[in-house]
Amino acid sequence: MRCQRRIGILACLMACSVAAVRLAVAGSISDEKELGRQFDLEARAQLPLIDDVEVTSYVNRIGQRIASALNDPTFQYQFSVVRDPRINAFAVPGGFVYVHGGLLTRATNDDEVAGVLGHEIAHVNAHHLARQQEATQLMNYATFLGVLLSAVQPAIGAGAVAANAAVQLQYRREFEQEADYLGARYVRQAGYDPRGMLDFFKKMLDEQRTTPTFAPPYLLSHPLTDTRLTNLEAVLRTHQWDSGTRQPTSLELERVQVVVRARSEPAQDVVTFYRRHAEAQPSDSRARYLFGMAQLETGAFDAARQSFEAARQLGFTSVDRELGRTALRLQQLDKAREFLSRATEIEPDDPVAHYELGKVLEAQNDTAGAMREYARACQLAPTLAEAHYGLGVLAGRAGQAGDGYYHLGVAYKLRGEYDKALTQFEKAEPLSPAGSERALAVKTDIAELKQYLRHGSGKSRHGG
Ligand code: ZN
Repeated sequence: MRCQRRIGILACLMACSVAAVRLAVAGSISDEKELGRQFDLEARAQLPLIDDVEVTSYVNRIGQRIASALNDPTFQYQFSVVRDPRINAFAVPGGFVYVHGGLLTRATNDDEVAGVLGHEIAHVNAHHLARQQEATQLMNYATFLGVLLSAVQPAIGAGAVAANAAVQLQYRREFEQEADYLGARYVRQAGYDPRGMLDFFKKMLDEQRTTPTFAPPYLLSHPLTDTRLTNLEAVLRTHQWDSGTRQPTSLELERVQVVVRARSEPAQDVVTFYRRHAEAQPSDSRARYLFGMAQLETGAFDAARQSFEAARQLGFTSVDRELGRTALRLQQLDKAREFLSRATEIEPDDPVAHYELGKVLEAQNDTAGAMREYARACQLAPTLAEAHYGLGVLAGRAGQAGDGYYHLGVAYKLRGEYDKALTQFEKAEPLSPAGSERALAVKTDIAELKQYLRHGSGKSRHGG
């Protein structure tokens, strides 16, 4: 898979010299948006993204809260997580921000995650990359996409390309400084502790000093110096933002860390880590619950059920959803339905609970019920590919062909399978009511995918 992706990038880099699509990043806001959208299509096809809603919603919730505090509607921000244990974060013009799973597992609290996102949002909002690329604007569109891609995931490019990318996409010192100041202000406005940014930067600098050969990729594009830390400290002091107790790790972040680790590390290591944690504090219900999460996410369903029940005995009350998800995987459909129905009543806005309940109802041949739950999940988490897929299949089966093709198209697009997505959208087009919002969405998707398949690296992920 990795090899195929590398070949994809190389093919892109070779094709680009022919494509000669001039890059005008410094041109206008709409150019930046266009570049961001095309990059995101490329990223979905080429990068190993973590698509668990638990993880993507967490990062988006923090990111959107900071973005909305800007009060600037120029860009619509989108935050994605790359499956990679190293620390990295990168923002592409137009509002597309990518962080590595390793950043989330290394964060101590929400404020640290917010600090890094605030810094990235500041780069986007101040058009740093676009302003910087003015000097190199002879670079064509496809090359630039490839270079950005290797900045988001340095392992993806060939050595020379990655090194080249690091040089070309290293933010200028004054831009780094500006992103620190602005970022600290934005996160503060959004209600986060701006010391989180400083704390996380210090952590990275320490890591670089301890193991210089495995320095976080983050430092390639965002060079970090003692001067920067000192200046940031001074800013916090001047505004009196440097006091008070630091926030503990939120349960949300801890859940996200379990899922990220389960997607990136050997199952045995993940389970062992959380087992030790639980055994060290035998009366801690939360530690027991997280151990259960690690077991559930790595496929040890019987053991997971026992841990969740033990957590409940110890006083951890919100285990219905996890017990329901576990029961579904153990094929205990009635039990799963009971737990998940209760979970959706307690947390009506939880997309995962609705999606999983949809799966139970589908298995019980309750098509209408399953469609209702999938539709609710899609509404709450528009990037939940599985929910769109489930809804697409059932709508087709229920004779609602237009809906069926549309949701299958969305599911394939989210998975980076663009040929298949385009086919579905083209089938959906004549079936969408003229002038409707749906018709407009389908038209936009078709145009965007056609353009991508023509001008991007042209690679689309198949299967997987
Ligand atoms: Zn930076």
